[in-house]
Amino acid sequence: MRCIKCGRKANKGRRHPCRHCGGKVISVSNKMLRVCQLFAEAGFNVSRAEIGAYTAMGVGYNVTSICVYFDEVYPREVFVGLPEAFLYEDRQGGESRVRHNPHSSMYRALMQDEQTREQSMISLLAGFMDDKDIEAMQAVGKLLGGVHA
Ligand SMILES: [Zn+2]
Repeated sequence: MRCIKCGRKANKGRRHPCRHCGGKVISVSNKMLRVCQLFAEAGFNVSRAEIGAYTAMGVGYNVTSICVYFDEVYPREVFVGLPEAFLYEDRQGGESRVRHNPHSSMYRALMQDEQTREQSMISLLAGFMDDKDIEAMQAVGKLLGGVHA
C-alpha cells in the first residue's frame, strides 16, 4: 500500500487517506508507482495497479501481466494512442482498466527476460502518459462525462 501523491508506504489494509499528505492510498508496487502517479496527475481515479508474470496456457512462454485499475469508467476516446501493447477495458461495477494486450505484435516483440519485459512495458505506459496533452485529455473526458479535472 502506497500513497499515490507522495509515494510513502502506508500500513497494509489502510484505505483512508495518507497521514502525511492526505493523498489516496492504493495497492501498488514500487515499480508501478510512477505510472500510477502519472495517471493520477492527469486526473484519473486510480484504484490499484499490478505487475507480475504468469505462464499462459497453450502459448509456451511466460506472460508479463501489467494492469492499472480505475474506480471509474472512462470514455475510450480518452485513451486514443495507447501503445499497441495495451488495451483499455470497461469492467463491471463502474471499474475500468488499462492492461497488457498479449495478442499484440508489440507485446510479442518484448519477449526478452522477465525484467527487461517488465521495464519495457512500464516505460511504454509511462511514455504514453508523459506524451499526453493532459488538458486536451481532460477536456475530452469532461465532454464525454468521465474524467474529473
Ligand atoms: Zn501521501
